[in-house]
Amino acid sequence: MKGKSAIVTGSTSGIGLGIARALAAQGVNVMLNGFGDADEIRAIRTKLEADHGIRVVYSGADMTRPAEIHAMVQQAIALFGGVDILVNNAGIQHVAPVDEFPLDKWDQIIAINLSSAFHTINAALPSMKARGWGRIVNIASIHGLVASPFKSAYIAAKHGIVGLTKTVALETATLPITCNAICPGYVLTPLVEKQIDDQAKVHGLPRDEVVSRVMLERQPSRQFVKIEDVAQLAVYLCSDAASGMTGASLPIDGAWTAQ
Ligand code: NAD
Repeated sequence: MKGKSAIVTGSTSGIGLGIARALAAQGVNVMLNGFGDADEIRAIRTKLEADHGIRVVYSGADMTRPAEIHAMVQQAIALFGGVDILVNNAGIQHVAPVDEFPLDKWDQIIAINLSSAFHTINAALPSMKARGWGRIVNIASIHGLVASPFKSAYIAAKHGIVGLTKTVALETATLPITCNAICPGYVLTPLVEKQIDDQAKVHGLPRDEVVSRVMLERQPSRQFVKIEDVAQLAVYLCSDAASGMTGASLPIDGAWTAQ
């Protein structure tokens, strides 16, 4: 993978940052994206460049804004000469009953968790076709395969991204380009930290009981999945060894979806 170039959306935090770090360790040049403190993002870039002798750039493109997404991909193509690896990871969550779900939150979640992946693929695929190689990894969720209450927008978006993954895989099936989805169970990241608070309100339970009775209750391993394990699965999907795997939606979920 040395010398290849990747865009990882939502990579200033959590799973996306873990994937960016793991790709950098393989010698891949990375475009980071997401929100956050400018000094912290600069420190992440500098450290990855120094540790791995690669190039790391940052785009602050807002994944709710198609024009910014297309500009981000064009910027990566201009800086790196092309995009070889695209990881669609940016995502947010909101927990509320469907009949009380804020209308603006529905639109925002569909835009970030689903439509942004259409826009990045639409913009980056021509570059992959021109270079004759490509890897698209969509970070879905077990909620792309099964549902839970109070997460209507998130679950609709994640089921949507599983469908998008299959369609792109079919359209690129005869090319050396793959498109797969990773479906993690609960991973302890800032997104889940916030969900613990939201779920505590919805269920009227203290935080520790939300973790044990609501979240990990559904995850038979009774442990959070590790960010590093999700990142290594992404690295595998981006490797040449995974050339025969496309259109798959792979659970990494402590047996959640085995039930
Ligand atoms: P996180 O909150 O730690 O990270 C989310 C990232 O997305 C951040 O970098 C944030 O800045 C970025 N982001 C948010 N809104 C954005 C926008 N409008 N434009 C650009 N970037 C934006 O969350 P995480 O848990 O690491 O989640 C990453 C992905 O993994 C999401 O798609 C999430 O649905 C998925 N996922 C997470 C879990 C889990 O348990 N944490 C489980 C399954 C799937």
